[in-house]
Amino acid sequence: MKKLIIPLLLFTCISLGQTSQKIYDIIDSVSAKRIEKDIQTLVNFGTRNTFSDTISNTRGIGAARRWIKSEFESISKNCNNCLDVFYQKDFVTKEGNRRVPHDAWVVNVVAIQKGTKYPNRYIIMSGDIDSRASDTMDFTTDAPGANDNASGMAGTIEAARVLSNYQFESSIVYVGLSGEEQGLFGGSGLAKYAKENNWDVIGVLNNDMIGNIKGVDGVIDNRTFRIFSEPVPANETERERQLRRFYGGEVDGISRQLARYVHKTVKTYMPEMNPMMVYRLDRFGRGGHHRPFNDLGFPGIRIMEAHENYNQQHQDIREENGIKYGDVIEHVNFEYAKKLTAVNAINMASLASAPPAPKNVAIGGIVEPSAKFKWDKVEGAVGYKIYWRYTTSPTWDYSRYVGDVSEFTLEGIVIDNFFFGIAAIGKDGFESPVVFPNKVFR
Ligand SMILES: [Zn+2]
Repeated sequence: MKKLIIPLLLFTCISLGQTSQKIYDIIDSVSAKRIEKDIQTLVNFGTRNTFSDTISNTRGIGAARRWIKSEFESISKNCNNCLDVFYQKDFVTKEGNRRVPHDAWVVNVVAIQKGTKYPNRYIIMSGDIDSRASDTMDFTTDAPGANDNASGMAGTIEAARVLSNYQFESSIVYVGLSGEEQGLFGGSGLAKYAKENNWDVIGVLNNDMIGNIKGVDGVIDNRTFRIFSEPVPANETERERQLRRFYGGEVDGISRQLARYVHKTVKTYMPEMNPMMVYRLDRFGRGGHHRPFNDLGFPGIRIMEAHENYNQQHQDIREENGIKYGDVIEHVNFEYAKKLTAVNAINMASLASAPPAPKNVAIGGIVEPSAKFKWDKVEGAVGYKIYWRYTTSPTWDYSRYVGDVSEFTLEGIVIDNFFFGIAAIGKDGFESPVVFPNKVFR
């Protein structure tokens, strides 16, 4: 009797779409030890400056990228060749680039885990291969880049190890990008590659510095991390901008919805963590590799530590006035890097298990007592959820599951007082990102 009841209970929980055991298993599978080992390996290449040696097998960016490629290949071997591993590269020249010391290939290492149902839908997790010394043009001095950004690179490799044990409906891309420090070259190259190959990019999770828990301001915190997202797409049209004045959406672009998705997944599955959404593209005046994807209209966010230490990034290793400078491995907290890797892994697993988001989401209800919605049904969805929130709230605080329909009226909810969005729900309860209405009807 007991044996019968337990599976039944389990089934009930899963079908309600509350939480999925698979996601908890993924969190438990991420290893701080393996992340530590990989960061150490990357640090041992001395410098990974994009313009450093490419011939040596022990020092420089060439050795680093060959090791990353071989690591992805051995992960692939363990999953029946489930990863398609290749270099994606672009040539950059000194001419016209202030921060390029000499012409060179900027080489990214890409590993793709093809989706079983939607192979052309892609979720991308990126870390960076390259590092830099105090002078970004200096490609010979030691630049361990342990936190910036061997941590993000190691997290990306570890996520591939964990997620390659599963199959997902959508494709997952694990990528080591290069040329970050001199002008986001690697990200621009891959974003262009994605566009040219008509990838349907669900989201880019750019991991840049995920291992420091001790801020330059003295704050120590191993629970909080930041999710940076731009408010609205950089390439929106003038008409879209004008319509926003009347219908809203200033803080509801596709990257922001991705940020909210990550925030919600973490709150659900890793309640010990403290995800901090930051309503801006990146740190004040600073850059990251999600930006070139945003430039082309792809949703993308930056995931990173909450407390940076500027003495330990972009600095030659040295001691001055009692302060130790340099991005050395001693400052990386591997347990924290493991947590942020798990943050990525569970979000990619959720997104890759969910149906596509609904398109053509229309909203109505002007001078009426209730808000009304119409949307195009999505193949693979078992139902839809309408989300709403007060206009001043950062998160989707209210929701209603409405089943497998393509229109719905939220009785008694006045359109003027809330923002609304709709997500598609899959058979296992996994949800697409929320879509902000892009049409109005009367
Ligand atoms: Zn950097």
